[in-house]
Amino acid sequence: MRRALRGQPASRGIALGRVRVRTPQALAVDERRITADEVPGEILRLHRALDTARQELHGLRERLHGALAQEVGEFLDLHVMILDDPELLHGLDDLVSTGRYGADYALKLQRDRLAAVFEGMHDDYFRSRREDLDHVIGRVHAALQQRNHDAERGLAGDILVCETIAPQELAELQSQGVVAVVAASGSPLSHSAILARSLHLPLVLGAAELLALANDGDALMVDAGTGEVVLEPDAGDLKRYHRRQADIGREQAQLSRLKRQPTRTLDGVDIRLYANAESRQDVAEAHALGADGIGLYRTEFLFLQRRELPGEEEQFLAYRDLVLGMAGRVVTIRTLDLGADKADHSGLTLRSEPNPALGLRGVRLSLAHEPLFLTQLRAILRAAAYGPVRVLVPMVCCREEVQAVVALLEAARLSLRADGRQYGERVELGAMIEVPAAALGVPDFIDLVDFVSVGTNDLVQYLLAVDRGHESLSSLYTPHHPTMLRLLAELFTYGRRNGVPVAVCGEMASEAANVPLLLALGLRDFSLHPSTLLEVRRAIRAADHGSLRRRAQSLLRAHDRAGIEKWLAR
Ligand code: PEP
Ligand code: MG
Repeated sequence: MRRALRGQPASRGIALGRVRVRTPQALAVDERRITADEVPGEILRLHRALDTARQELHGLRERLHGALAQEVGEFLDLHVMILDDPELLHGLDDLVSTGRYGADYALKLQRDRLAAVFEGMHDDYFRSRREDLDHVIGRVHAALQQRNHDAERGLAGDILVCETIAPQELAELQSQGVVAVVAASGSPLSHSAILARSLHLPLVLGAAELLALANDGDALMVDAGTGEVVLEPDAGDLKRYHRRQADIGREQAQLSRLKRQPTRTLDGVDIRLYANAESRQDVAEAHALGADGIGLYRTEFLFLQRRELPGEEEQFLAYRDLVLGMAGRVVTIRTLDLGADKADHSGLTLRSEPNPALGLRGVRLSLAHEPLFLTQLRAILRAAAYGPVRVLVPMVCCREEVQAVVALLEAARLSLRADGRQYGERVELGAMIEVPAAALGVPDFIDLVDFVSVGTNDLVQYLLAVDRGHESLSSLYTPHHPTMLRLLAELFTYGRRNGVPVAVCGEMASEAANVPLLLALGLRDFSLHPSTLLEVRRAIRAADHGSLRRRAQSLLRAHDRAGIEKWLAR
């Protein structure tokens, strides 16, 4: 029966495919006891299945290529480690030979035992590893049943319907042919969403009912641009889908003609478009689309999903690749922004902060781990020998923090000089404006920085006191708030009067619909995800800068969201 549902759009695109449900519950296996005679045969069956699972993982590892190969590779290595864990293996053998359970049931019992241990741990890292355990056990179980686990998890044309989706799963699913993902929970500002956009994999979040309604093999239509999800679409839906598909094809052809066009308004004002990047793929795309540079490189991607921290050499090579990839255009490297929604596994971020969003995150965390921060600064300075680099500091809230960063940058330069290392002399320093106190207090630290970049994702969260990842508060979480617009207008005016470049690098700048509003308020430097760069360029090229600036006062007189949106609609 046709059911239309709505979730939150997280990575645009449309897809029509077959449902593949992934439920989080444990393996459903009936209890089976065996006789003493059956033990050797059952042990053999079990070990063959373990070997098959190992071979599958190695095979997958070898087939990996492209920008996300390293990240996904680490995830697979972890699965191999779980599979080789003596605790898992001894327990399984014991359950079959002493407990006299069939191999499948022994697998279920051992999974439940280990899952209980993982869940009881205080360490978030280990707790989150329960999901990995389930993946591994699922793989072995499929091998016992002589089913191909990868084919089961994702076939060409499947749309994965699941509870949650982890960033490192996305590339593997896509390479298996999954055409879209619909998850019951998650935020469009999460790292999974950012990564899905990099992969151009349609992703809808928050469609919780679908998990209850959908069955494997149902037809599903997804419009991840609007968040619309239709189960068992009817003839009218399919017609609409094919029309949308044709429209998207036409639009893409039209947009691709803008690759080499200047980002200039109708009345001749040049606007700079920088790209936000997380992966090499993003960098290549930014370059190909004619971005003016990288406005935000989120370095925490190098630190997530692993237990050991990347050392100076690994970081240097990643940053140098980035600089070389942009071939002389400026690259803005943001220092580590771990904490809150970006919890890492290395033990750096605190496990149980009462208010993680107000806790040890961003530059606070870096300053609390000076040797780690110095390592990162040294790596960035070394990469700056290969092209223009700027350092951007996240979550700044006061002058003292910027002073501490300036001192550490100097210490990093001195230590590189002492080591006889090559490094870039001229590296500009910028502060991210994400905390309201920093937004209001820019004049207090402006002498210490060369530019600022407004992180509207966090600024909205802190200005409006609305958690950026809170699903039921998503209607309150919007940059279309009169106070937010006034604050932005003041920042842009301050920057213009004092000759300080002010960019916006939050998602707000990625939406073409916001272009008239941001131009009216006085923004000249946009930093946005490459996936919407051409649309934003098109909106800028269609805008009359002078007339928008003249309409700024009427925009700033709006008292509510409706008033702002009415202004935009005009
Ligand atoms: C922001 O807060 O707007 C931002 C760009 O940083 P992130 O989304 O990585 O927190
Ligand atoms: Mg932020």
